[in-house]
Amino acid sequence: MGGITRRELIAGVAALAATAAPLRARAGHQRGGAARAIQTVTGPLAPERLGLTLMHEHLLVDFIGADQVSPSRYDAAQVFAVVLPYLTAVRALGCETLVDCTPAYLGRDAALLKRLSEASGVTILTNTGYYGAAKDKHLPRHAFTETAEQLATRWTGEYERGVDGTGIRPAFMKIGVDDAPLSEVDAKLVRAAAITSRATGLPIASHTSTGAAAMAEIDLIAAAGLPASAFIWVHAHNERDGAFHARAAKAGAWVEFDGISDGSLARHVELVGGMKAQGLLGRTLVSHDAGWFHVGEPGGGQFRPFDTLFTKFVPALTAAGFTRADVRQLLADNPRRALSGEI
Ligand SMILES: [Zn+2]
Repeated sequence: MGGITRRELIAGVAALAATAAPLRARAGHQRGGAARAIQTVTGPLAPERLGLTLMHEHLLVDFIGADQVSPSRYDAAQVFAVVLPYLTAVRALGCETLVDCTPAYLGRDAALLKRLSEASGVTILTNTGYYGAAKDKHLPRHAFTETAEQLATRWTGEYERGVDGTGIRPAFMKIGVDDAPLSEVDAKLVRAAAITSRATGLPIASHTSTGAAAMAEIDLIAAAGLPASAFIWVHAHNERDGAFHARAAKAGAWVEFDGISDGSLARHVELVGGMKAQGLLGRTLVSHDAGWFHVGEPGGGQFRPFDTLFTKFVPALTAAGFTRADVRQLLADNPRRALSGEI
């Protein structure tokens, strides 16, 4: 791109990492003075050590549905062999942390993530929570019968004791909703997430395809007494009306444009540029929503790498007038603040 060499690119990204500002410790929305440690798949980490972070990616996904999903549907050794080179490649580009957004009942495999983190040197985060988008295909039966409080007890238990018997603790919640008006079960998932966030400090990343649904979620979160900064609007780029992005960000929520690909560079530069022009860069997150090993497809199907953000998007931002500080804010400071519960 634009004559920039790979060597210059890597030097630039490395300089971004090296100049990351020291964390000024601030209270999370959880009570207490010091910033909460981030629970990575390999153990707790100080938030300022997350570094350059991809906020929304997937290493493995199984779309078969909650009633059939199972680790027996894939060979973990094969997945490990397929995925590792992509992590090694993005680590070489300067990426330090990858947030894996595959929830329970869609193939969340924390033990596999831990092995991949150890082998690649990329810090990986996993999640608790349930995904109510896609017309509830990925919700377990008990999500319909239990109360928000009961679901929150399950998710808080995962935060305290780890997921799926691994002892590996989640760093955030991943939920999902269909469009507004929110269905009864979708609204319940948001309320359960708010209860869990109040107990644990975990942020709530929610797959949300429209601005109307995002605003409904933000209202529920406010009604539960949480700051909107506990909420990450996942897939915000799918909403065409930019007024929703500004409204959500001004309310204090995180607005995540996580569809970066070769074909969407201009659109994502425009989206992030619009936020900057309105003074809302401090509420903006970016990522690819790329990957992954597709369970059920031969060899895991077509894996989309995690490199476009580093090799093409950052140079495109620079060409559009973004400063190094702006880029560092997007890739390091904002993820750290969103994940550590800084208001
Ligand atoms: Zn995703």
